[in-house]
Amino acid sequence: MTAAPTSVVSHNPADPSEVVSDVPAAGASAAGAVERARAAQPGWSEAGAAVRSTALSAVGAAIEAASGELAALAVREVGKPLTEARAEVARAAAIWRYYAQAPYEPTGAVHEPAGGPGLLLTRRRPHGVAGLITPWNFPFAIPSWKAAPALAVGNTVVLKPAPEATACALRLAELVRRAVPEAVFTVVPGGAPEGGTVLATADAVSFTGSTAVGGLVTRAATARGVPVQAETGGLNAAIVLPDADIERAAAHIASAIAGYAGQKCTATSRVIAVGAALGPLREALSEALRALPVGDPADPATVCGPLVSGRARDRFDRVLPGASVLAAGHVPEGPGWYAAPTVVEKVPAGHPLLTEEVFAPVAALLSADDLPHAVRIANSVPYGLVTSVHTAGLEAALHGLDRLDTGMIRVNAPSTGVDFHLPFGGTKASGHGPREQGRAALDFYASSRTYTLTP
Ligand code: NAD
Repeated sequence: MTAAPTSVVSHNPADPSEVVSDVPAAGASAAGAVERARAAQPGWSEAGAAVRSTALSAVGAAIEAASGELAALAVREVGKPLTEARAEVARAAAIWRYYAQAPYEPTGAVHEPAGGPGLLLTRRRPHGVAGLITPWNFPFAIPSWKAAPALAVGNTVVLKPAPEATACALRLAELVRRAVPEAVFTVVPGGAPEGGTVLATADAVSFTGSTAVGGLVTRAATARGVPVQAETGGLNAAIVLPDADIERAAAHIASAIAGYAGQKCTATSRVIAVGAALGPLREALSEALRALPVGDPADPATVCGPLVSGRARDRFDRVLPGASVLAAGHVPEGPGWYAAPTVVEKVPAGHPLLTEEVFAPVAALLSADDLPHAVRIANSVPYGLVTSVHTAGLEAALHGLDRLDTGMIRVNAPSTGVDFHLPFGGTKASGHGPREQGRAALDFYASSRTYTLTP
């Protein structure tokens, strides 16, 4: 007798009594979804570049046409502030359109034989079924930036979304399935068990989520010998030099700490003031953080909405003791899982704020004697996703570019907000495997074949 499927339930983070989605978990049917996707893959791959390109463009257009409704759903299901939700949906549509060009691009090269007549060729070939395991915080953009390049190259896709974002994933699937044949794109709702099934059966695995789960996924996929990429957590630093435009730096950093309640892998959680920058930055950052609009995510003016769950807010509450609060924004009245945007200082070495990703609107203000010292502090954590450097001087910027051990470095910009057509990813515990986004993503979803043709 098989066990009845359990439910996957998501709640509105601004009003947790509201159930946004309640659907059966895929359970054992997740394996069947992968099998059907495998059976559909040769047809999709052989349908030709025009079919795949047209389908991807159609998905982009469908997302754009539904953008208002999709943004409202992200507000309700994952508490994303409306302005950011609209930007995410626009980004998702742009991603599908961007990869719609990929099927027409060259997939290899022609070489001359070392001796004698003939042709030597390389060509990119799809893996088969791409298993995508995604987090809740970018419920449209992350599945899109994995699925679009996977489909463009000729794979079929099985998406296992985070349970917190099930309704968003199912709605995205409706739009994608209007443009592609049966079983080319399937969503399996569920949690770790369904993720485990996808991990155990897909021909390539692309994961985004926490570092702990990313480690499990990487080890399991590697043991099976299938390609894997894992984009995981961050503990990102912002370095502020004394010559920086301090007001502007403070505004960028405040938005990177508290935008979407700090629930971005690229959020800033350590602010390192170099030398004389400390005094003015302390003041400007406190002011910027207190002025940041916190509240109802459905309000287009809101920058910091609720945390995604009661568990996330408990983690925020647990991490503050032991540090001294420099500035805190307000917590709105009402039932949502809100946390006040907070900057702390005098944080003792080894404090969890300096060693763990909290995924909440909180950052530690630290000081450094000079730029090399700041770079050492920035590099001193196990993570390596992104660093922002705030300075008026090219020399300091270049010093940072050369020595910071993070996958992405942003000068005079918030740590958040990397363009969708740039390779995206981290070093150390922040990522494993080839980069996502941009043309780099196409390489992950295919392997290169070498052909020798002789007369
Ligand atoms: P999570 O690791 O809890 O879950 C991610 C996905 O893995 C979900 O779909 C989940 O159901 C699935 N999963 C959980 N356990 C599993 C298991 N044992 N086997 C297979 N699948 C399993 O992460 P989350 O809370 O959904 O997302 C937040 C995290 O994502 C943060 O750490 C954040 O930094 C990270 N993130 C990273 C990036 C990036 O590109 N580097 C982008 C966004 C979010």
